[in-house]
Amino acid sequence: MTSSGSKSSPDPLGLEPAEMRRLAHRVVDLVLDHVEARADGPALTAGDPAALAAALGGPLPEAPGDPDAALDALAHVALHHMQHAGHPRFLTRIPSPAAWTGILGDWLGTGTNAIAASWAGGAGPSEVELVVLEWLRAGLGLPEGTEGVLLSGGSIASLTAMAAARLERGPGPAYLSDQAHASIPRALRALAWADVRLLPSDAEGRLDPAAVAAAVRADRQAGHAAGVVIATAGTTNTGAVDPLEALAALCAAEDLWLHVDGAHGAPAALHPAGRAQLGPGLARADSLVLDPHKWLFQPYDAGCLLVSRPGGLDAAFSFTPSYLADVQTRAGEVALRDRSPELSRRSRALKLWLTLRVHGAGALREAVARGMALGEEAEAMVRGDARLEVVSPAQLGVVCFGVLGAEEGEH
Ligand SMILES: *Cc1c(COP(=O)(O)O)cnc(C)c1O
Repeated sequence: MTSSGSKSSPDPLGLEPAEMRRLAHRVVDLVLDHVEARADGPALTAGDPAALAAALGGPLPEAPGDPDAALDALAHVALHHMQHAGHPRFLTRIPSPAAWTGILGDWLGTGTNAIAASWAGGAGPSEVELVVLEWLRAGLGLPEGTEGVLLSGGSIASLTAMAAARLERGPGPAYLSDQAHASIPRALRALAWADVRLLPSDAEGRLDPAAVAAAVRADRQAGHAAGVVIATAGTTNTGAVDPLEALAALCAAEDLWLHVDGAHGAPAALHPAGRAQLGPGLARADSLVLDPHKWLFQPYDAGCLLVSRPGGLDAAFSFTPSYLADVQTRAGEVALRDRSPELSRRSRALKLWLTLRVHGAGALREAVARGMALGEEAEAMVRGDARLEVVSPAQLGVVCFGVLGAEEGEH
């Protein structure tokens, strides 16, 4: 029963303790019902705007409503009409299923309203995030001293990296290929980046270091400052990996910032085979983005930015306005609000911490290897079928194929 207006509980949004517990258990059951029934329905359920609005909308509710009916509407209408990335036949696109341990970690954080902004307001969640960032750094083979922050996803992580690079490097041009993810030009546009060099990719869909070198030379001659090279480790179209080692050498020689967008592909570095596909250049990035809500099997949202220069993020984002003057941090205490544009921020690290603590990095490594092996198996099946052709080979779990003789649009 809601207790709104009752004398014992003046909290207008309060619920009686027994009702809180009953509804919480119902939520657990609704989620588990969803997980267990997953294979029965389609992998993706589209929605009709008018039907969804009729079921979920209406005028602003003024009076209290039945909580069970409201939960049912969310579970059976709103959350039914979407993609179900954990479905056994959800074979396409980059979204991945979420590990149950990740879901549980997220629930704990939401249930306790955890915040990871300042040390004073969230020392525990902040430490969990620092631990997770260090675990990721070590697992991916990045240099010691690399710092990072968890964000909503690859898009905002790259935007944050670009802002940090810009503040350190000044207004030099940004070099990227036509295979870069759309979030990159969007981030550059949001930052009002003046000079963006969109370079054609090579036949394998990779950024050509010689093309970057030529563009940099021309820009230098025209008086431009050193800028930023944006490489992709696992493109969205084909899973291609830009030649990171050659790009890192070029960036070192020309004093350019190397940003690697590994939102999908970087977790492959957990496994020796994946790390070999990415190459040693991955560890030479000035900034690297990966999405734990993709190949680290975390529920939305979880993006990660790692920057190999200690203090680089703080230099860009630290501000101490007067209303935060009494939450200054002391030595050893990290205020994660100083590492990105986010101040209030949920603890996205809890879920990944729980997954790593419970399953161990070995399990994630095996899951990544399984994804790559499935891609190779799919490629072999396509090659064995006379009706099909491989358009791009299996790379980081992505294989593109077509139907022979089919016209564009018939696929
Ligand atoms: C998914 C993806 C992004 C965007 O990440 P979000 O988490 O959706 O913001 C950027 N780059 C690449 C290569 C991606 O695969």
